[in-house]
Amino acid sequence: MQTANFDNNATTPIDPRVLELIERTQRSVCGNPSSLHSLGRAARRVVEEARDRVAAACGCLPREVYFVSSATEANNLAVFGRQLKRGQRVLVNPMEHKSVLAPLEASAADLLMMDVLTTGIVDASKAVEQIDSNVDWVVCQAANNETGCLQPIAALSEACEAMGVPLFVDAVQIPGRAATSDLVSCGAGASLSSHKVFGPKGVGALLVRAETSLSPMLLGGAQERGRRAGTESVATIAGFGLAMELAVGEATERQAVLSSLGAQLQACLSRHFPEGRVNGAESARLPGVINFCVPRSSAESFMMNLDMVGIAASVGSACSSGSTEPSHVLDAMGLSLADNHASIRFSLSHGNDSTEIEHLDVVLGEMAPRLFL
Ligand code: PLP
Repeated sequence: MQTANFDNNATTPIDPRVLELIERTQRSVCGNPSSLHSLGRAARRVVEEARDRVAAACGCLPREVYFVSSATEANNLAVFGRQLKRGQRVLVNPMEHKSVLAPLEASAADLLMMDVLTTGIVDASKAVEQIDSNVDWVVCQAANNETGCLQPIAALSEACEAMGVPLFVDAVQIPGRAATSDLVSCGAGASLSSHKVFGPKGVGALLVRAETSLSPMLLGGAQERGRRAGTESVATIAGFGLAMELAVGEATERQAVLSSLGAQLQACLSRHFPEGRVNGAESARLPGVINFCVPRSSAESFMMNLDMVGIAASVGSACSSGSTEPSHVLDAMGLSLADNHASIRFSLSHGNDSTEIEHLDVVLGEMAPRLFL
């Protein structure tokens, strides 16, 4: 049984073109990019070509791209690299991924939480008022991984620019699905993850403006201009570079597929659960992401039942899957605990097709009435 993957916000399958490049690079490039001889120089060229591709995809300079092992590492480096001091104040979106929230909570800084609207976005006008000379850093993701809700980055960026406060944006869910062109030029530092954009797992990037001070977390090597020690994973970095280029180059086509499949999925869910609702429905969202609450049901048992018939969806935060903890995102949006536990996430990719949603439609005919508590 082939599994219909409706859990693409957790990870995406690798693009065959990316896989081909990785295999070819792995076979033919054996040098260490730090070595000065020709083998090393060949590996260095591969890494720098990938850096150029990521920079071009994000509208920044190649020297503003730092390769790391994941977006989790990029977010940790962004926070710990700032060496926040006691008394410094960070204005943060409470719906951030835990890889942003946990290091911030471990830092010495005072955290000031943005208000969240029930629509799944931070209250931009309130946040803009809060950005004053007492705030040292503003942290807000571009799109939420659980609801797909697009956050008001342009408004925050403008306010930050006006007050001279740096902004950091976790942009992991964006490439191929919304614009990446001005992530760094708008004054933001940003994080990216390869495996969310049809690239390999084990690589990501931190984008920071060239003048930003950033202390390394790993010591003992001069790689990534001293900011991330450790021999570069040459072939996976090459794959990530290509995956980013493809995501941005094919964004229009991908978004069209996602919008059409998303509408089909939404109609299917509404037909089987007339009382169901999309969390964040009133907000602009990533196409193809539907966080759906079926009141008086258990989303966990819904997910398990779907899994048994070859359909993958997710509950809570996908990156801590296995845990049945309620979602901190839905909690911040004001959902009751019962509705939080009754919410399931479907996240599509351009690799899905309408027959998979037709399969879900058939399956739900029998399954839906059984799901209520
Ligand atoms: N940030 C967001 C918004 C995410 O969705 C995720 C993973 O789901 C991460 C960060 C962590 O990414 P990685 O798996 O590359 O560590």
